[in-house]
Amino acid sequence: MSEMPVIPASLLPTDGRFGAGPSRVRPEQVSALVDAGTSLLGTSHRQAPVRSLVGDIREGLAEFFGLPEGYEIILGLGGASTFWDSAAFSLVRRRAQHLSFGEFGSKFAQVTDKAPHLERSEIFRAQPGSRPAGPEPREGVDVYAWPQNETSTGVIMDVTRPSGTDPDALTVIDATSAAGGMHVDINHTDVYYFSPQKNFGSDGGVWFAAVSPAALERIAEISRSDRWIPDVLSLAAAVENSRKNQTYNTPALAGLVLLDEQVRWLNGNGGMPWAAERTATTSSLVYDWAERTTVATPFVTDPEHRSPVVCTVDFDDSVDTARVLSVLRANGVVDVDPYRKLGRNQLRIATFASVPEADIHALLACIDWTLENALS
Ligand SMILES: *Cc1c(COP(=O)(O)O)cnc(C)c1O
Repeated sequence: MSEMPVIPASLLPTDGRFGAGPSRVRPEQVSALVDAGTSLLGTSHRQAPVRSLVGDIREGLAEFFGLPEGYEIILGLGGASTFWDSAAFSLVRRRAQHLSFGEFGSKFAQVTDKAPHLERSEIFRAQPGSRPAGPEPREGVDVYAWPQNETSTGVIMDVTRPSGTDPDALTVIDATSAAGGMHVDINHTDVYYFSPQKNFGSDGGVWFAAVSPAALERIAEISRSDRWIPDVLSLAAAVENSRKNQTYNTPALAGLVLLDEQVRWLNGNGGMPWAAERTATTSSLVYDWAERTTVATPFVTDPEHRSPVVCTVDFDDSVDTARVLSVLRANGVVDVDPYRKLGRNQLRIATFASVPEADIHALLACIDWTLENALS
């Protein structure tokens, strides 16, 4: 019977959680939760304390994103996946165009493509690890959609409004794993939406979005039309409730407390520029290591397309990554598994805003140690 190899304690990271979502929760977030334990938790989301918490989060996010005049932060329950259905009901007038270069972009594309009240979607696809050239202006397309960071592959896409489109068309960006860790100019988007269990280190089950005046107008226009929209998915209902710092139905309060603490922490450290700088540094450590390690290579060949927040590293067939993963896990270093459906001999390492440089150095040392000492 073989015992799991023990990685020397001096090599281990302070925090062994490197997952791409749910992701590590900082101890200060947990303390904030404990502080809320006897006051806020277990109280009504219709009363002032919870509404003021939601208001603080909305203001904090507005500060973080440098929210342009007229834009609003809205929220609703269900997370980014639920937001896709909401968008199919409340944002797309007739036809959407999607960039699909991984699991998440592809899922949203399927949602609008299958919606019986919409025309078939236009979908530009690319192999995992690469990306399409970009959105292409098309007559009749009223929503252009793509992820800023494709979490399943670690490929990023620029966030710039496609030029030459119908002036009325909306740019809708899935920022679930990008927001809070990557730079964005919100002026180039109409809807920039995300779930908070990635860079924001909170719980899932809720979505937030920075929404432009044009998108607010579109939501209102569609809600006045005769289209049937389920109440829980209605973005008009989300806008109405968000303005009152509420949600249509009952939210999970603990996640909101965790998120509020993280947004304060990010803003207190210097906001988006600070977070983007930090993830650029930590991800470079991973990519540089993959470049100089004989048995490893960055999965994304074009360095310009490599994500600063989700690093994917391929290994030679000689390396049993399943074994690497189980040795790491036995030593408390977890969730560097590749995206399950990608099926590659790969590790995927999230370098979200909460992950300090020292932990990435330690993680890489642990992987090196495992490759050298624990594979035979
Ligand atoms: C995680 C993720 C999602 C799904 O988020 P849920 O909160 O599970 O719905 C969608 N898009 C991207 C880019 C993601 O990283």
